[in-house]
Amino acid sequence: MHPRLAEDRDGLPHLLDAVQQHASHLLGQVAERDVVPAAPIPEPDALPAQGAGTRAALEEFAARWEPAFSASAGPRYLGFVTGGATPAALAGDWMTATWDQNAFSSLDGAGQHLERQTIAWLRSLFSLSDRHHGTFVSGATMSNTVGLAVAREWLGEQRGVSPAESGAGVLGPVRVLSGAAHSSVPKALSVLGLGRRALTPVRSLPGREAIDVSALEQALREGEADGACIVVANAGTVNTADFDDLRAIAALRERYAFWLHVDAAFGAFAALSPDHAHWVDGLDLADSICVDLHKWLNVPYDSAVQFTRRPDLQTSVFQNAAAYLGPLGDTPDMAHLTPENSRRLRALAAWFTLRAYGRDGHREITERCTTCARALGDAIDSTPSLRLLAPVRLNVVCFTLADNPTAQRLTALTGQLADEVFLTPTVLDGVPALRAAFSNWQTTETDTRRIAAALQAAVHKL
Ligand SMILES: *Cc1c(COP(=O)(O)O)cnc(C)c1O
Repeated sequence: MHPRLAEDRDGLPHLLDAVQQHASHLLGQVAERDVVPAAPIPEPDALPAQGAGTRAALEEFAARWEPAFSASAGPRYLGFVTGGATPAALAGDWMTATWDQNAFSSLDGAGQHLERQTIAWLRSLFSLSDRHHGTFVSGATMSNTVGLAVAREWLGEQRGVSPAESGAGVLGPVRVLSGAAHSSVPKALSVLGLGRRALTPVRSLPGREAIDVSALEQALREGEADGACIVVANAGTVNTADFDDLRAIAALRERYAFWLHVDAAFGAFAALSPDHAHWVDGLDLADSICVDLHKWLNVPYDSAVQFTRRPDLQTSVFQNAAAYLGPLGDTPDMAHLTPENSRRLRALAAWFTLRAYGRDGHREITERCTTCARALGDAIDSTPSLRLLAPVRLNVVCFTLADNPTAQRLTALTGQLADEVFLTPTVLDGVPALRAAFSNWQTTETDTRRIAAALQAAVHKL
């Protein structure tokens, strides 16, 4: 054995103590770190021939790389939609790496059973019926991709062909109707051989990102001659956290043939709160659903879940028949359901956080985030130099400068705020804007007041 490796093996308990102490120290001060660091990115260096052992690697990482890492695990990072990791989820993630299970086959242990148990808990968390089958994937982009792959196979079923066997070309032109689809949807369509141009935007309601259901019906009627299509409904748009009327869309299936995929990456968490659950009323009626877990469930990257009512079609797409793997059977192994074969037991972090805090704990996180978002929205609304661009429905605040809202001025504003808060830019209806998305379990109303004060001070200095 290489001497460094032997040394680490023999000193493992001390080594893990050192790592644990380092992690505790970091997490103890993440709330006070500059959110976006000013430290320069380290220059590349050569691959070490000898290696220095784990302790030295930790020291070098801490000195060389950590100063340039963002405080994305902390409470004032409001960019994109980025949750942190609850203490239980972190523990679960450590255990995932410790056990290093390969959760793709049932031949060697209970990993997949824990995954199925966790899926059942998630179904209950989001008020989904047991008609929905679920699998863990690496993120919402992959969840949308898998959902749309199942949709593609369903289109084949409608047309008496199998894209999984014969290629996407057998389908002929495919239409994918959506209001304000997330950018990962065209990406998925490109990967799936349906093509980005398959995405056919449908008008939103005036001043909203929610689809105009009558415009959707018209598009369905106009395309009827081309056969069945796909509708991607949005539950929680990234700009303004707006929601399509899922029940009304699902009802259109009585008259038109389409697969209903719902991108509920973070919006599904509205189901946890009685005040917000109405936004996702009808979610269970979807044929496939995307939910991100590394966002609002606050498990570490990378984790999401994909639900579908047609695991049989999912197996048609993803089956990985090989003599050395288990048989397909009635409960196919995960290797037959997901894009990966070998895969980490990412369900474990979700299992830990759900076991530790339960439905009530996660509901509290969701509701605190929405309360904070509303408070920031109110502060912006009462600041004459800022303008709120949409009502705060859930956890996203979309706003801009009241005067001359150019992308350049907004960049200057976020640049001034980098140590206090991280916000990401967007464009809404042609207007350059900023978004503040609340999804970290640590964020409190005190943080929100601090963010509002920093924002008001910075805008006056512009
Ligand atoms: C974040 C997000 C995605 C993509 O998620 P990743 O986890 O980054 O792959 C897709 N749809 C919506 C609505 C999102 O918010």
